Amino acid sequence: MTGRRDRSMMTSFPALATAVAGLVLLILALWRWRDNGWGALVWLAAFAATVVIRTPHSVRNRSNIVVDARKQLPEKLLLVAMFAAMMLLPLLHLATAAFAFADYRLPDWATATGAALQLPFLWLFWRSHADLGRNWSPGLEVHDAHALVTGGIYDRIRHPMYAAIWISALAQPLLIHNWIAGALVVPAFAAMWFLRVPQEEAMMHGRFGADWEAYCRRTGRLWPKAAS
Ligand code: SAH
Repeated sequence: MTGRRDRSMMTSFPALATAVAGLVLLILALWRWRDNGWGALVWLAAFAATVVIRTPHSVRNRSNIVVDARKQLPEKLLLVAMFAAMMLLPLLHLATAAFAFADYRLPDWATATGAALQLPFLWLFWRSHADLGRNWSPGLEVHDAHALVTGGIYDRIRHPMYAAIWISALAQPLLIHNWIAGALVVPAFAAMWFLRVPQEEAMMHGRFGADWEAYCRRTGRLWPKAAS
């Protein structure tokens, strides 16, 4: 389906309910911080920061008029899996110890590594949202005034936002010592990366043609390409 997003009560109610449920879980999780450990506290702070960074972009970009969207079942399943592994399951576990049977132990230096990784993660997450601006969307979409962004953090790499999410996904099991609430995000995001990126690049190629090809020649997906 394409077109301007429906901003009626019907679509805003689930978003509001999710936000309220998330806030309740966040408060409960903070309440239990001694049981969860300091790594979980760092994860909660970084999670709150991502909400603060992303929300203004989500709100503004709701008025984009979508002209092409890839919303097949695998893409929808991946989005649900990522939402669960990156937000719902960690929050639920930290708030209620629901998955305590799947806990593991790590030395402090591993937790500290996970904490240190939050700095490059949040910086890249913030920069990529700022540079992509109106052209960002959580799903695979092209909108009517879509512009190809090739500057800022996009100057050398094509997927800085996914690079940020890779860092966050790899750090999560170091901060939340649990196979379900911590480690599950790694295979979930790996699946997303391998299935989504080729589709996204094909969509960008379809929209921007030769400009996209030239951009690909001088950039790498996650690492800057060596000058040829
Ligand atoms: N893959 C990018 C962007 C993720 S957001 C990153 O990791 O930084 C996903 C949306 O961004 C896609 O639906 C696509 O429409 C848009 N997009 C991706 N790269 C873009 C670019 N260079 N310029 C404009 N829009 C882009």
